[in-house]
Amino acid sequence: MKTILTGLRVNSDLHIGHYLGVLTHMANLANKHHEDYNINFFIPDLHSLISEVDGDMQQNIVRNIKYYLAAGLKPSKNIHFYRQSHVPAHSELCWILNCTASMGELGRMIQYKEKGEGKSSVNVGIFDYPVLMAADILLYSATYVPVGEDQFQHLELTRDIALRFNHKYGEIFTVPATTSEQIKFMGLDQAIRIRDLLNPEKKMSKSTPAENSKIMLTDKPERAAKKIMSATTDSVGKIQFNMWNQPGISNLLQIEALITNTPLQDVISTWAGETRYGDLKKKVAESVSEMLTIFQSKVAEISDDEVYELFKQGEAYANDVANSKLEEVQKAVGLR
Ligand code: AMP
Repeated sequence: MKTILTGLRVNSDLHIGHYLGVLTHMANLANKHHEDYNINFFIPDLHSLISEVDGDMQQNIVRNIKYYLAAGLKPSKNIHFYRQSHVPAHSELCWILNCTASMGELGRMIQYKEKGEGKSSVNVGIFDYPVLMAADILLYSATYVPVGEDQFQHLELTRDIALRFNHKYGEIFTVPATTSEQIKFMGLDQAIRIRDLLNPEKKMSKSTPAENSKIMLTDKPERAAKKIMSATTDSVGKIQFNMWNQPGISNLLQIEALITNTPLQDVISTWAGETRYGDLKKKVAESVSEMLTIFQSKVAEISDDEVYELFKQGEAYANDVANSKLEEVQKAVGLR
């Protein structure tokens, strides 16, 4: 059985970009494929250490799993939940892969350059985390790793590392699918990217300080509606989908389509010919606040114990699979 693997860091609260781009999307994908694939939902808590963690890490870990469940994910026997730091094989394989990866290729990673930009000192984790990510993927022979476009380069690096390792030591690792195969598998023409409400040329990001630029999943529904009403639009005066010329309006159409689970083309047709931006904002504000009301009440219904029970089962499975792959690697390189 092939494996699908996904992880979501626990550094801070999440916004509707995460909800629409990752949580609901992964929940739907898992519900659809759980009979034919192993589906690993892991908490990359070691990755979270490369930057500041807002709030309590343990609470954020439990919350991320609750978010998946509230977004519609239905636990079942092939769906596995685990914390990276509870499976020591990740760190062990990372070290071995470090000795396969080169400084040059890691130095070319855009995320490394962006995260290090303007800083006098950058921690080694920021430089090296793509190798830990390769270990996260290769330990479970994952074929599909649905990630945002900012992680595509790291996925390509994982493929390079796996191919290089296999070339030297034999067919040890399953090479994950190419980026374009991943996108096709996810059923998207391209990765979903929800834009910043005030500056729609950029993606919505938790690190943007302006409160009105993003809708957090903990925002009160009325507050979220106000944020949509104050979103930046344009002076074209026509509701149409054009990310280049009208990124704000296009972003609202995209949010509406994803929240109401309607094909984007249908939403675009519904609004074609309309000129009143206020009407569109009002509709999207309603959809967003309704979504948040339902989502937040579902989160409140899930207990911490339920999540820890899922970890207990998932971590037993993950340690089995990961340790057996690690042993193959250790034998191949001569450590066993
Ligand atoms: P980050 O919070 O940047 O570490 O991203 C975690 C995951 O959420 C990645 O797969 C991102 O691509 C995805 N993500 C973050 N922001 C957005 C957004 N605005 N729209 C869609 N997906 C996003």
